[in-house]
Amino acid sequence: MKAAILTIGTELVRGQVVDTNASYLAERLAALGLDTTVMETVADHSSRIQSTLRRLGTEHDVLVCTGGLGPTSDDLTSLSVARLLGVPLERDPAQAGRIEAYFARTNRPASPCNLKQADLPQGATPLENPVGTAPGFVVWIRRARAFFLPGVPEEMTAMFSSAVEPVLRSLVCAPFSEIGLCVFGLPEGVVNDRLASIETAHRVTLGYRVSFPELEVKVLARGETEEEARQRARGAADQVRELLGPEVVYGEAPCSLAQAVGELLRQRALTVTLAESCTGGLVAELLTAAPGASDFFLGGLVAYANSAKQQLLEVPQLVLERFGAVSAEAARAMAEGARRVFGSYLALAVTGIAGPGGGSEQKPVGLVYLALAVEGGATVRELRLHGSRERIRRMAAFAALALLRRVLLRGVAGAVD
Ligand code: ATP
Ligand code: MG
Repeated sequence: MKAAILTIGTELVRGQVVDTNASYLAERLAALGLDTTVMETVADHSSRIQSTLRRLGTEHDVLVCTGGLGPTSDDLTSLSVARLLGVPLERDPAQAGRIEAYFARTNRPASPCNLKQADLPQGATPLENPVGTAPGFVVWIRRARAFFLPGVPEEMTAMFSSAVEPVLRSLVCAPFSEIGLCVFGLPEGVVNDRLASIETAHRVTLGYRVSFPELEVKVLARGETEEEARQRARGAADQVRELLGPEVVYGEAPCSLAQAVGELLRQRALTVTLAESCTGGLVAELLTAAPGASDFFLGGLVAYANSAKQQLLEVPQLVLERFGAVSAEAARAMAEGARRVFGSYLALAVTGIAGPGGGSEQKPVGLVYLALAVEGGATVRELRLHGSRERIRRMAAFAALALLRRVLLRGVAGAVD
């Protein structure tokens, strides 16, 4: 069932108001299993509203529209719908009564312009507004059942839940099931290519949601029964795991890479510590975001200056002089130092050049070294990252967690270069 979202308001197209209604509706429609193919915004302009509704109504089964139902002269939605359908506006007595009662409760008379909100296109079915005065309504526009809701977000969301969602739920007859797989370590395009066969083989729809640098692959299956949809989604999700591999798929949504790492450490009763330079504590922040990290995380040091690396992490001066603070050798010494200083089983170090300045030909911005120290040695990785300072720092922190996870999956004993 195809859906479109239309938000109406000159404030929106001028950039004075952020269109939170559209994203709210998009999420809710997706959760209901509707296939939203278009989101549009149009100014409070009657002929534009009409032409947009005509086009969207031709191509969709459901339209959800917000805005322009209020009492002022710039609120043109009801009038535009009436014109489009070739019907007059008619005062709905029940809604007019509600508005009058609302003002009576606040000891004010309802003005003619307040009562204008009860004027609906002839034949429209009103939708009660549980929190405000402007009612919404439903009409048919071409192929589409079209819902009109107020623009004020609290009124819109209340009305969506009470009056729209139940109708949509009964329309979306096919039960569905969705599984989100959390992915890190492959670019979105590569993931997409590897999963190319899944949709037809399993009769599911794949969706991708990026929350940089993590990616969620959503598997959506529909079926005659909920059980059938669930089984099909499960089969497809298992195949996604197989195609991408356990080092890339780290869990099922909701889940973060740091949580997945924490779970592995906890299961194996291992402890980890951190020595961070260019990430400035971001790895520690990620690891401690979920409660209970004290089970496996002893602590971390942000050693930014060379002197801190020397004094707190016991990085030999010779290493810093000879190879520099951004080097495989420094990363290894930082990790080994943290392991010694804190007395942890594992220690992870990150050092790099986050930019925008500070790069050179040999050591460009984005050069990052990760090191993981274990008993008997360490493993070191060099990364060449791109983008803004923020992206480089985030990517470095996630890559460090991914290195830790990989080592935990493969066995700590093998993690000595
Ligand atoms: P009112 O009775 O308040 O006039 P209305 O249905 O006519 O309600 P609008 O006039 O379109 O709604 O918008 C009222 C206010 O609601 C806007 O000033 C804005 O703050 C907010 N609003 C409208 N549309 C959106 C939207 N798409 N996303 C977020 N906020 C919105
Ligand atoms: Mg208004």
